[in-house]
Amino acid sequence: MIPLIHIIAILPLVFISYPYIGLINSIFLFLGGWAFDIDHYLYCIVKHKNFLLKHCYKFHHPFAKEKDLLHIFHVVEFYILVFIIGLFIEPVMYLFYGLVYHISFDFIKGIYLKYYKKEKEANNSRALSLIMWLKRHSLQNKTNQ
Ligand SMILES: [Zn+2]
Repeated sequence: MIPLIHIIAILPLVFISYPYIGLINSIFLFLGGWAFDIDHYLYCIVKHKNFLLKHCYKFHHPFAKEKDLLHIFHVVEFYILVFIIGLFIEPVMYLFYGLVYHISFDFIKGIYLKYYKKEKEANNSRALSLIMWLKRHSLQNKTNQ
């Protein structure tokens, strides 16, 4: 999902909850709902050694041509890590809430494109687990040798 849509999606929640959770938690909620798509760009820089945003947009989920994209902030291990830290640091828990909101919109968009719009190009090309991704890629490397 493009960052602007994430911003539009998270802002009403931030404005509604701001009087109850305060400024700092609201900022973390906003960041959780929006900023984690930076991993798409990080993936592109690491994998393709290319810093051009226009080039990296080609690897944007869910229309990526590649399979098994590792978007490091969209794996279950990252959610668990943020949740555990959030148990001890309140603003990080709001970051986690924003992240869950963000991921929900990513999944809804994926389902919408694939099953409602019947987009043939839409796919779930993103790895859901870092551990499973590492396992798959270590197996690939062993079979390639
Ligand atoms: Zn996302």
